[in-house]
Amino acid sequence: MFKSGRHFLQIPGPSNVPDRILRAIDMPTMDHRGPAFGDVGHQAITGMKAVFKTEQQVVIFPASGTGAWEAALVNTLSPGDRVLMYETGHFATLWRTLAESIGLRPEFIAGDWRGGADPVAIEERLKSDTSHEIKAVCVVHNETSTGSMTQVAEIRKAIDSAGHPALLMVDSISGLASIDFRFDEWGVDVAISGSQKGLMLPPGLSFNAISAKAVAAAKKAQLPRSYWDWDAMRGPNEKGYFPYTPATNMLYGLNEAIAMLMEEGLENVFARHARFGEAARQAVRTWGLEILCSNPKHFSNVLTAVILPDGHSADAFRRTTLDHFDMSLGNGLSKVADRVFRIGHLGNFNDLMLMGTLSGVEMGLKISGVPHNRGGVQIAMDSLTNSATAAAAAAE
Ligand SMILES: *Cc1c(COP(=O)(O)O)cnc(C)c1O
Repeated sequence: MFKSGRHFLQIPGPSNVPDRILRAIDMPTMDHRGPAFGDVGHQAITGMKAVFKTEQQVVIFPASGTGAWEAALVNTLSPGDRVLMYETGHFATLWRTLAESIGLRPEFIAGDWRGGADPVAIEERLKSDTSHEIKAVCVVHNETSTGSMTQVAEIRKAIDSAGHPALLMVDSISGLASIDFRFDEWGVDVAISGSQKGLMLPPGLSFNAISAKAVAAAKKAQLPRSYWDWDAMRGPNEKGYFPYTPATNMLYGLNEAIAMLMEEGLENVFARHARFGEAARQAVRTWGLEILCSNPKHFSNVLTAVILPDGHSADAFRRTTLDHFDMSLGNGLSKVADRVFRIGHLGNFNDLMLMGTLSGVEMGLKISGVPHNRGGVQIAMDSLTNSATAAAAAAE
């Protein structure tokens, strides 16, 4: 059926790709071994170091985020190693399954999918591991299935208070470039990210940031690896080249994305997402609906997951917003399937896109017969105008 106007893609990744990035990708393929390519590769690698806030190693894989998850584990660990993971939601669960399938022994701290990882539980478990059998602690920074954020600095503190030598691995696939991430300052050992969320690119690139401690662990790690081998990247990367064909056109796009992030300024990018998160949450509360994340300290500014009242199908509601308003909202995954829908407010996104999205949600609630209070959109407008006025006053 013909649809007029622009499709509203408001899922929490893949996010909308700005025209500037589409134009940058739309170039002839180049010789990835030729003299001009080194600059492209070098710019991408150094640019990503700035985004991760690290001066240590960064590698780029032509792969989805899942590839960089696997790379983090196979480069640093050996068969049968114990890893401590935390059940924040669907993505933490998938990472655990991956760990198991490559011969690790993950220990999963159970969570209720309504908050980030609990540093107290992690510290307690590490303290009881007196023989240091646990080789890595793995957490998800922004759990995209629930809209919960883990306070990474607190996890670092928990590991240090326990006096435990485990590596700290953080999946920031949907956090990076939307909410603050400080690889060096937070003492992260391996970070994992992907191109299609805060980085505003199409899916297809993934990243590891790697600490000196993780590089040392890689020297002893016995899990088999070839495509994911960090060491094979090191030599060619020094001059901006890769051991196999990189995703050349995606790297043009990545360099444009990094330029856009630096033009806006990373701190401004984070502040922008914070405004969206706050306004979206105020709208949800006004509707009288429940936010899936129950811990305000862990609210995500990347997306908001909303629980529908008992007896109402979130998937039927999403179907309504798609049919009536040509808007895609995120679905509930596994445990919360059909119970929640997710509003993505990340990446190449502005106030009016948020208002359009929230309007679509409020109209959709009405059409679907979901009990709610009116006025969420109005409250979100007030929130955005108040914070815009405050920001303008601060800038004067
Ligand atoms: C999107 C996402 C993934 C999966 O990444 P793919 O690119 O689909 O492999 C993993 N973890 C988190 C937190 C994500 O948001």
